[in-house]
Amino acid sequence: MKNHIRLGGILILTMTLTLCKDDRSVNIFTVSQDIEFGIALDEEIMANPADYPVLPKAQYPVPYQHLERIRDNLLASGELKYADRFPWEVKIINDSILNAFAAPGGYMYFYSGLIKFLENESQFAGVMAHEMAHADRRHSTDNLTKQYGISIMVGMILGDNPGQLAEIAAGMASGLSSLAFSRQNEYEADEYAVRYMKKTEYQPCALGDFFSLLEAQVGSTTHPPVFLSTHPSPEDRLDKINEHCAGTTGQGFESRYLEFKNSLPAY
Ligand SMILES: [Zn+2]
Repeated sequence: MKNHIRLGGILILTMTLTLCKDDRSVNIFTVSQDIEFGIALDEEIMANPADYPVLPKAQYPVPYQHLERIRDNLLASGELKYADRFPWEVKIINDSILNAFAAPGGYMYFYSGLIKFLENESQFAGVMAHEMAHADRRHSTDNLTKQYGISIMVGMILGDNPGQLAEIAAGMASGLSSLAFSRQNEYEADEYAVRYMKKTEYQPCALGDFFSLLEAQVGSTTHPPVFLSTHPSPEDRLDKINEHCAGTTGQGFESRYLEFKNSLPAY
């Protein structure tokens, strides 16, 4: 019986790998495992307030109302594959640095420094859409597949090494280093972010404005853009974004974004 199950596993795996070849990417994790990784990482972050001072939602409902409105607008675009499947939890880390990051399964973290740095809601929606794309396109588990190698994964899936998933989750949570993305991931996250924004009232080209503002901060000692170290910026990024968003309009929602910024406490 056990051999039958194993054989079935190999067959499914082979089929998955074959089917994914068109996409030129292989991801042998399940969607549920993406969510499990996200939960593990979120627990790690919440247990470390010294490094990640997450703003408590119960105490600061107003900034969270703004944050969740922006998230819901993007999810309503109808362009995300896992809009209904992932938890899409959004959190604010109350620190002045310019950064945001996404864990697998749609857990997303935005530094208040970045929120305060931007000029309108479309720019911020651009950042969030970019993070959502990393999660929805499953870039982290895609990269883990490459990093750990297919052979180890086969053993894991077939149950030869059940502890390995927990090990990988722990490694991911402790370093956040595996959340660094490739240039190809970045291109794709930009492309999909614009795709989502096109189906909202936001300005899709504001994603480009966000990167221009960040680039202008490179070399700054007071506000270095940490975002660019976890999201490597290809040189032709702006050109590509402008190609994707050409001919689009939309609104910036400056006044309600100002309310969002003003609802944040001091660091
Ligand atoms: Zn990115």
